Amino acid sequence: MVRAITAEGIDGWAECVAMSEPLYSPEYVAGCKDVIERFLAPTLLASSDVRAEEVAGLLKPFLSHQMAKAALESAILDAQLKYEGISFGSYLGASKTAVDCGVSVGIAPNIDALMEEVSTYVKAGYRRIKLKIEPGWDVVPVKEVRNAWPEMPLQVDANQAYSRDDAAHLALLDPFNLLLIEQPLDEHDVLGHAMLARQVSTPICLDESITSFEAARDAIALEATTIINIKPGRVGGYLESVRIHDLCVENGLAVWCGGMLETGIGRAANVALAALPGFTLPGDTSASDRYFSKDITNPFVMIDGRLTVPTAPGIGVDIDFEFLESITSTKSIIGHES
Ligand code: MG
Repeated sequence: MVRAITAEGIDGWAECVAMSEPLYSPEYVAGCKDVIERFLAPTLLASSDVRAEEVAGLLKPFLSHQMAKAALESAILDAQLKYEGISFGSYLGASKTAVDCGVSVGIAPNIDALMEEVSTYVKAGYRRIKLKIEPGWDVVPVKEVRNAWPEMPLQVDANQAYSRDDAAHLALLDPFNLLLIEQPLDEHDVLGHAMLARQVSTPICLDESITSFEAARDAIALEATTIINIKPGRVGGYLESVRIHDLCVENGLAVWCGGMLETGIGRAANVALAALPGFTLPGDTSASDRYFSKDITNPFVMIDGRLTVPTAPGIGVDIDFEFLESITSTKSIIGHES
């Protein structure tokens, strides 16, 4: 968690979405903490009166580290919007008051366990199911879930598990009317995705490959993707996310909001982003109880398969500071203490 305190004493909160280990992206929590303490925060503190819109430019000399940068920009944006009395949704350009929720289902130990898990989510009201797939766990689980729920919007996510040689195998998923197949190939193999897109009829959606506006622009030009999963942490923040959203809308691509197992702090901002008009597919913006028995904010509860977009200033959720304190393992303060 990053807390930005303004000269007026206003608190802005954000969540760094890096995992403990660099398995999804090169970033990891301890690395983010280090780069924030060593380079990013001192740079922002050296510049007086920083607005959120200036953060990306000030931090540009430091390469990559999008998740660390996103956390700082988001905390400053939260404080700025609280000061100005504007909600995240209004600021970003939200056009909806609630967003459709999907759920991401991991690789199950067997088909029975998968069917039971999916059934729980369908009963809870989720409007779209995403199955994680990998070689050896793809066509059969997709077929079973599709047969059991013929009308359910369904998509798959391979997290880079396949190679260019797997095109014919991935085409076996075509009969199941999937919304999309997400990131089948290596994140650096954008051209490979363009080649694959000509060999399968299921739309290709990029996740890990899209690390910036420029990466999105190039992938679209190469016809490597027809749908983009926008994760604010992965692209360096909510402002870059809006730029990618606008680019996709201009080019006729659908976008949806991915998830990084956020607590209510990150989830609140994601739900606001997912309310922008180009987010036409349900996101992985699941209810708090999908991941946490107790959240650090008032929980996001799904009503009729939707989450309500917060309308209070900033991210618009109440943080349970006592609970947050009880689960805090380490803290560091950077900058002037006052
Ligand atoms: Mg993904």
